[in-house]
Amino acid sequence: MKRRSVLGWLSVTALGAAGATVGLANATEEAKKGAAVMAAPGTGSVEKVVKTDAEWKKALTPQEFHVLREEGTERAFTGKFWDDHDEKAVYVCAGCGLELFAGAHKFDSGTGWPSFYQPIKAESVETKTDKSFFSVRVEVHCARCGGHMGHVFEDGPKPTGLRYCINGTSLNKK
Ligand SMILES: [Zn+2]
Repeated sequence: MKRRSVLGWLSVTALGAAGATVGLANATEEAKKGAAVMAAPGTGSVEKVVKTDAEWKKALTPQEFHVLREEGTERAFTGKFWDDHDEKAVYVCAGCGLELFAGAHKFDSGTGWPSFYQPIKAESVETKTDKSFFSVRVEVHCARCGGHMGHVFEDGPKPTGLRYCINGTSLNKK
């Protein structure tokens, strides 16, 4: 009798374990979906958003995916916001929604791309040196999801002298 009850206990435990495994698998799926928002160690206050290419493809339009994740560039005068003159606008990352640029810092550059002389907060965007197309440019991306925004040039207006030349595709208006 004693042995039998031990076996009974074992099988219940085994079932329990199986159940736990299923639960864990679901949790992993959830974790993947929400993989999403992860705290990045030692990078200030901006929490990183990390997704796989497959997850970005699901979340973005093909054009957004091309510009944000493959560092594409929309054709001048074809994107959103190049002709937007809303001083109160807040432009957010089309990938993750982080506030990146403000209408108050926007100026008419004549390039056909939305142009700003500064980001809404210094820590909202990050830059890297881009050596493609036989020239050295400074690439600008969202500090949270890494989404490609455009480039920054040193021929902007006062007070910074900078020109953040941004793809409208990479932005949404809040
Ligand atoms: Zn982003």
